[in-house]
Amino acid sequence: MSEKIIEKTRGLVKADFNFWVGLYMDKFYDGLEQNKIVANKCPECGDVFVPPRKICGKCKIKIPLDQNWVELTDQGTLMNFTKTQYKVSDRRTRKSKSFQLIGIVNIDGSNTGIVYPLDIAPEEIEIGMKVKIKWTEQPKGEPSDIEGFIRA
Ligand SMILES: [Zn+2]
Repeated sequence: MSEKIIEKTRGLVKADFNFWVGLYMDKFYDGLEQNKIVANKCPECGDVFVPPRKICGKCKIKIPLDQNWVELTDQGTLMNFTKTQYKVSDRRTRKSKSFQLIGIVNIDGSNTGIVYPLDIAPEEIEIGMKVKIKWTEQPKGEPSDIEGFIRA
């Protein structure tokens, strides 16, 4: 006769963790903490990246860490948007009861788009409209330092 012990536990296990985002993103988040948009520029083609990149995908070269940094404004152009119940910043709740507007914004002077919620009335939204960052009141050097975008 054999004995089999089965233990089963239900519930959530909370595990706090940190990870390093690397030297390039470190500069970006340091900038956010000061309400600044820090980007980098490819020395070959001149494309400007928000957030900064280590490699230019077009030229296939490494952008040197010690040069080619540019500070951009906190204004940009709405490239596209969508209306969704799915949250982009909260992994646990996933779906909210209310709809949220999410936009892709091209920061002035850059060649890329960043995705953030839009705090703009749905009837006023237009692709191509000028928008600006709505900064959080107490920045921490995190993506959430940008709460979203409002009409410029
Ligand atoms: Zn390039």
